[in-house]
Amino acid sequence: MKGNKQKNTDGEVKVKSSPMLALFGKIKDFYRNNVCNHKWRCAVCGKDVFGNDYVCDDCDNALPYLSKGDFCEHCGRKTKTAQKYCLTCKGVLTEVDKMRSVFNYEGVIVKLITDFKFKRAEYLSDFFSDALYKLYQKENFNPDIITYVPMLKKAIKKRGYNQTELLANALSSKTGVDCALLTEKVKDTSHQVGLKRKERFENLQGSIRVINRDLLKGKTVLIVDDVTTTGATAEVIAKKLKSGGSKRVYLLTVASVALIKE
Ligand SMILES: [Zn+2]
Ligand SMILES: [Zn+2]
Repeated sequence: MKGNKQKNTDGEVKVKSSPMLALFGKIKDFYRNNVCNHKWRCAVCGKDVFGNDYVCDDCDNALPYLSKGDFCEHCGRKTKTAQKYCLTCKGVLTEVDKMRSVFNYEGVIVKLITDFKFKRAEYLSDFFSDALYKLYQKENFNPDIITYVPMLKKAIKKRGYNQTELLANALSSKTGVDCALLTEKVKDTSHQVGLKRKERFENLQGSIRVINRDLLKGKTVLIVDDVTTTGATAEVIAKKLKSGGSKRVYLLTVASVALIKE
């Protein structure tokens, strides 16, 4: 039976499948996550790789690294020409003090992130967190604490994991900086169709709450996420963290969508 693809409001593709397929998928995922060593196979093309590589040289050269081109000094998104700030960031202060992403959200990166989020490809957190760590060092991020984007409990149960938590924990062990959940999601915001931009933002604001306030006061926090699309979620989290006492908030993501405005 062929999977029945559905698009949700974020444009993410969800795949509905039969119980047999689901069971087969679970066995396969278990094998991939626990038995076979992904360091031996390119995460993109499956070719053998050696040493500590996750991706073969050919595929790595073809990946849309943002460091290869021009990007905004504030939000880190790809810009068409060399300029300090993108049109969105120019003259605008955001709650997130600095954002950086490893890749532009395009090509094979879209597939890898979709697999990571929706197809139980948890093993990709090794490759992604490795790339995040390299950028973290290059950009001299020096946070007091690392956190991630909260999900509703039922959503975690459905997916099996919070993919941003996997990334944040992996980055925490590489950097030695503590990782903690500093916000929680209290309301479902996946059905925002029909809401105006402002209403969507307000809805989002009402869906996130600060927890572990004692860890925040005067601290510089680094939020880890998979993809920056509109940036609204990170903006809301940063706003909440700052009203909870945090001094500075940074955002580090695997990929970001280039802004359409330019
Ligand atoms: Zn490859
Ligand atoms: Zn920008």
